[in-house]
Amino acid sequence: MAPKPVPVTPLPARALASVEDLAAAGLAPAEDRAALEQVAADFRIRLTAEMQGAIAAPGDPDDPVARQFVPSAAELTIRPEELADPIGDGAHAPVPGLTHRYPDRVILHATHTCEVYCRFCFRREVVGEDGALPEADMAAALDYIARTPAIWEVILTGGDPMVLSPRRLRAVLARLAAIPHVEVVRFHTRVPVVAPAKITDTLVEALDIRPAVHVVIHTNHAQELTPAACAALARLARAGVPLLSQTVLLRGVNDSPQALEDLFRALVRNRVRPYYLHHCDLARGTGHFRTTIAEGQRIMAALRGRLSGICLPTYVLDIPGGHGKVPVGPGYLEPGDSPGSHRVTDWQGNRHRYDDPS
Ligand SMILES: *Cc1c(COP(=O)(O)O)cnc(C)c1O
Ligand code: SF4
Repeated sequence: MAPKPVPVTPLPARALASVEDLAAAGLAPAEDRAALEQVAADFRIRLTAEMQGAIAAPGDPDDPVARQFVPSAAELTIRPEELADPIGDGAHAPVPGLTHRYPDRVILHATHTCEVYCRFCFRREVVGEDGALPEADMAAALDYIARTPAIWEVILTGGDPMVLSPRRLRAVLARLAAIPHVEVVRFHTRVPVVAPAKITDTLVEALDIRPAVHVVIHTNHAQELTPAACAALARLARAGVPLLSQTVLLRGVNDSPQALEDLFRALVRNRVRPYYLHHCDLARGTGHFRTTIAEGQRIMAALRGRLSGICLPTYVLDIPGGHGKVPVGPGYLEPGDSPGSHRVTDWQGNRHRYDDPS
């Protein structure tokens, strides 16, 4: 039998990039325009044609895709706990464009541009400007990586590194490939889902290099996984690129066991292994998206047992101030009544005793 043809993604129509565009597309009510212009002055708007098509209920601000990309006046509310640099990127930047927090891996901010601007973005204070990292900064960052043998993995993020042309990406990857201690290159990207036409054969070929390339797909709702997005994931999977996902827990988008179950099953079906569920960072103007940690733990607890283990990511918090990411539960183990004794909760909520060997 001939292999099933992969549908060819049509060239995308123009992205929506202003309040006027959103209004014309029926995504922003006229009475909100003044407030939305104020929001847009602070953090750019961009919604690709693919994601416009993924909105199931155009005009409904609670549609889980619209809510992620269509700005809201709620972004003007800055809470006292919110921060300009919520995960402390700046606190660990040895050279511009590079964050080195953990010994064996660095983040290289190859660009500040994205295909879409997510209203909850944790880097919204730096993301949204045009252009790739200036060549002098890129050279300094690569130089730092080359002279730091502890760096085993380079994580390309931004912005979104896959907005760079295959030619530029190939050039960056070639320079990383020349550093013997860099064994893994990881992309964090939304492009395969929000702009799947960009996952061309040329791009996929560029990823077939010696530092093993892994791709982490940022996606938050099953509705985003359109036929074209699934075809892009298939192109990557077929080329042997390990695919993982990261999801941000977002109020009104995916803060229910059912929404996350649908998303995680769809990802695994498309050969993507859910990696992290992020607690929503304390970026300014994003309070309307944030749940409590207790809510996140309840959702994760509801999914354990109900879902195949390969569908379950780790729920993590990036500790404000640049202290790194840690799993935040739910916890299944509590101290028992004597040293070395534990009380462990199973997936159905029943308690059991477990004793370490004395
Ligand atoms: C999130 C992050 C990483 C990657 O962490 P993993 O737990 O390996 O996914 C690396 N460096 C920085 C600065 C980060 O914020
Ligand atoms: S794609 Fe990532 S970096 Fe870009 S706006 Fe969305 S969350 Fe921020």
